[in-house]
Amino acid sequence: MVRNLIFTVFLLFFSVVSAPISDARDPSKKFLVVIDPGHGGSDTGAVYEGGKTRLTEKHFTLLLARDLARELIIRGHNVILTRNDDRDLLLSDRTALANKVKADIFISIHLNSSEEAIKTGGMETFILNHATDETSRRLADLENAVLKDSQANSDTGSSNVSLIMKDLILDANLEPSKDLACSVQSRIRGKINDRGVKQALFYVLLGADMPSILIESGFMNSKEDRDRILYTRSRLAMAADIAGAVDDFRQNKARVPCMVQSEKHFQRKAELPRPKNRI
Ligand SMILES: [Zn+2]
Repeated sequence: MVRNLIFTVFLLFFSVVSAPISDARDPSKKFLVVIDPGHGGSDTGAVYEGGKTRLTEKHFTLLLARDLARELIIRGHNVILTRNDDRDLLLSDRTALANKVKADIFISIHLNSSEEAIKTGGMETFILNHATDETSRRLADLENAVLKDSQANSDTGSSNVSLIMKDLILDANLEPSKDLACSVQSRIRGKINDRGVKQALFYVLLGADMPSILIESGFMNSKEDRDRILYTRSRLAMAADIAGAVDDFRQNKARVPCMVQSEKHFQRKAELPRPKNRI
């Protein structure tokens, strides 16, 4: 019994480690990017209010996501948006879509809000930190919810195998996610304040079975950052840089190596612990 389980895990390891990475970077295969405009519907995300002006993160993420989609399509990539209008969408549905269509990469677009960054603003890219006890707990919750939703066999054995498999997928996708995140930050360096690549626990990245990143493309409370996304020309330039990073990733080009900051080294975002499974 134990030997069978070890053998199963061994097979899973090799199937998981080899498949997503080599497929994603094989230029002869179609490359599918799922772009996730953060928030939507009743979930506004961060809000900027000044005088009679009220601007919401959900609107900004959709503007940038649409331009990024256009840029990627022009470059020959296939693109699917998790939402293309203002609607409620659960985090689990966003990654479920990416998993269902077997996306090669998943990019979630967000904006930050922090008093500390009003003057400097800037952009940062997150990858998932799944090497913590808290992540393991949330992963178990997520997997259990998925099993329940699909009314799959929820006995302990299948649940354990599912968790082991998910853990292997996350391990396999860590380095490619880092490469993609470093490429994004490297592309915007010198144009936008580079806040680096960071690692944190985001539900929306936890659900993805492919290399995935979450881009905090600016600060809602920084005028410079808001204007960069509101004005078409600067927004298109930003979208072109992110699309360039996707090209770098696909072509496996070596970019400038970058440091990944763990949560110990930066203040945990107020946005992380969100109710109702939404970022
Ligand atoms: Zn957000």
